[in-house]
Amino acid sequence: MRWIVRSGLILIALTAVRAAVRSSPPPPLPVPAASSIVIPVAGACLDHVRSEFNDWRGNHRHHALDILAPRGTPVVAATDGRIRKLLTSRAGGLTIYEFDPTQTLVYYYAHLDHYAAGLQEGDEVRAGDVIGYVGTTGNAPPNTPHLHFAIGVLPPGKQWWKGQAIDPYPILRDHGVAAEAGPIAR
Ligand SMILES: [Zn+2]
Repeated sequence: MRWIVRSGLILIALTAVRAAVRSSPPPPLPVPAASSIVIPVAGACLDHVRSEFNDWRGNHRHHALDILAPRGTPVVAATDGRIRKLLTSRAGGLTIYEFDPTQTLVYYYAHLDHYAAGLQEGDEVRAGDVIGYVGTTGNAPPNTPHLHFAIGVLPPGKQWWKGQAIDPYPILRDHGVAAEAGPIAR
């Protein structure tokens, strides 16, 4: 009989916890440490960009923002930070992973045509610094050059590949400032 009472109590406790979890507001969106973030493509504005964070791309969610721009348009660091990883992957092509100074967020730039000259892992960058150029490397359509831009919340271990994606669109829309237009590299 006692076990029935005990399991009943456990059930009640679990239900209470579940209800509390359900009713608690979602955690606040981590916003980049700086009060502003730079739109990471020179000369780009967001007027014709829409959130496509939850769009399906094949069998996975997009979890990023695509910013269309002519091939060779400078890609700039969205925030102050450090170049954590330069990686060439099948899907992303030429990519950059940048950590913010507090290592809270990881910024991901993909399909680059090429990197900024001399760019290396470990480099410190300032928001607005040119780090690469728009292209179609990886699985981007050859006739649609764009920057695939993602922001992730880093796990406690700070693995650069394990950021939990958050939607860059509202962050750029609410906080983004335009990057200065630089020369287009051919
Ligand atoms: Zn994309």
